[in-house]
Amino acid sequence: MSTPVIQLRDVAKVYRTGEVEVHAVRRVSLEIERGEFVAVMGASGSGKSTLMNILGCLDRPTAGSYLLDDVNVSGLSRAQLATLRNRKLGFVFQSFNLLARTSALENVELPMFYTKPLISLREQRARAKAALQKVGLGDRMGHHPSQLSGGQQQRIAIARALVNQPELVLADEPTGNLDSRTSIEIMGFFQELNDSGITIVMVTHELDIASYCKRIVVMRDGEVLSDRRNEERRNADAERAALNDAEKKADLAKP
Ligand code: ADP
Ligand code: MG
Repeated sequence: MSTPVIQLRDVAKVYRTGEVEVHAVRRVSLEIERGEFVAVMGASGSGKSTLMNILGCLDRPTAGSYLLDDVNVSGLSRAQLATLRNRKLGFVFQSFNLLARTSALENVELPMFYTKPLISLREQRARAKAALQKVGLGDRMGHHPSQLSGGQQQRIAIARALVNQPELVLADEPTGNLDSRTSIEIMGFFQELNDSGITIVMVTHELDIASYCKRIVVMRDGEVLSDRRNEERRNADAERAALNDAEKKADLAKP
């Protein structure tokens, strides 16, 4: 068996602000295999985002070790971490984090500016177009984020996360700002990604959303409270198809 993509051992994170210490994550040990689709759940303040920032090499643990693809990230310089993030990781956030005055296409091209070896501008454009087509936005490439719905903006963010063909996609409450129908649609895209072999770790506090994932990790007070396989995994594609059917029937029934 190949080594897990993620190996956390006794990872802890303490924030110090003035005199106060906050133990945001306490001794978390976790392994995530290639191809998994993991939901991280837990109440607000339970340490989910802190854990995600560590997984994404955006923040360093105070204690413990983190091996990403068998590389001990604590030994890497900032520049090495930036390269690692760019090459192996894709990020999706609750608030989309798109550049406002920039087209969908340019937003998706952005991560490739930093990629080494350098990618030609023509190749960048081709890859960005392909990524946007993949998320069904081939006809919206010139639009700015403000001209698009929340669901469409999140699809741009997913295309941006995919454009460097990451090994691991990290998503922190990606459906937090979306209505339930759009959330199902976005979960469909994540399931497709996962079916194509990409490992996904997704924070959510909605059980409904977690039910589309293959494994559910629950955190409490900075610790892993439970970690289980999700046997009753839901299928976003089937639900989306059913919703579309229902809408068509409702349209037909209109006088
Ligand atoms: P969650 O994402 O589950 O809501 P967080 O990881 O954001 O939880 O926060 C866990 C705990 O760490 C909370 O008590 C929060 O207030 C604290 N915390 C998070 N980020 C910081 C920070 N940069 N400085 C100080 N405390 C923080
Ligand atoms: Mg959070």
